[in-house]
Amino acid sequence: MPTGDLRPRPGKGVQQFSFVDALVAGLYEGAFSAADVAAAGDLGVGCGDALDGELVLVDGRMVLCRANGTVQDVAADERLPFAEVVVFEPTFSHEVAGLGEKQFEDLIESLVPSNNLFYALRVEASFDRMTVREAVRQQAPYRGLAEAVKDQRETTVGETSGTMVGFKGPDVFQGLSVADFHLHYLDNAGTFGGHVLDFDLVSGVVSMEAYSTFVLKLPEVESYLAAELDDISADADIRAAEGS
Ligand SMILES: [Zn+2]
Repeated sequence: MPTGDLRPRPGKGVQQFSFVDALVAGLYEGAFSAADVAAAGDLGVGCGDALDGELVLVDGRMVLCRANGTVQDVAADERLPFAEVVVFEPTFSHEVAGLGEKQFEDLIESLVPSNNLFYALRVEASFDRMTVREAVRQQAPYRGLAEAVKDQRETTVGETSGTMVGFKGPDVFQGLSVADFHLHYLDNAGTFGGHVLDFDLVSGVVSMEAYSTFVLKLPEVESYLAAELDDISADADIRAAEGS
């Protein structure tokens, strides 16, 4: 049975660094220090400088899962082009078992009071199958995200136990954030992870917190300040890149 409730609390919010349409436009220059991102939250997702890997922030530990298969701790002075984080204090938890990715999403949608708020999710579980992707480090001048993700590495493993972290966001935030689910995975050994594309969950626990506040920090690097961002047809590109 679900326990707790999912009412947003005053003073709590999602903190996002840059926005997804900036990535769609190829703005992969790391604009924020990992230290600044870590100071804003202890759970979240993001990507590496030059799109070099998928960032997982869980329990305050920040790692990058790179396309060469390595998982590395992120140094405080590393630069990040995009991150979305929260200070995670879950108000709700639910035991889950025997769910494919679509069934998992349907279940979460049935549990949340509204699709028009942000929710952070932490899913500690065992899986029969987990498919992740890692973006590949790009070379300047950067191509847009739709092209860049054609290089991405996709990996499927069988039995694995670990933690998925990420967000469910309102559809109208597509382009600023990611509509619906955006989850990253790190296994318990800390040696395998990435941006979640598909899975079969055996059993585990979902914890969640809801937010009605969304704080967006814009990049101040020259590549962003000089970019032409008035002609982005992002929705299809984001859906292609995020695997939804
Ligand atoms: Zn991702």
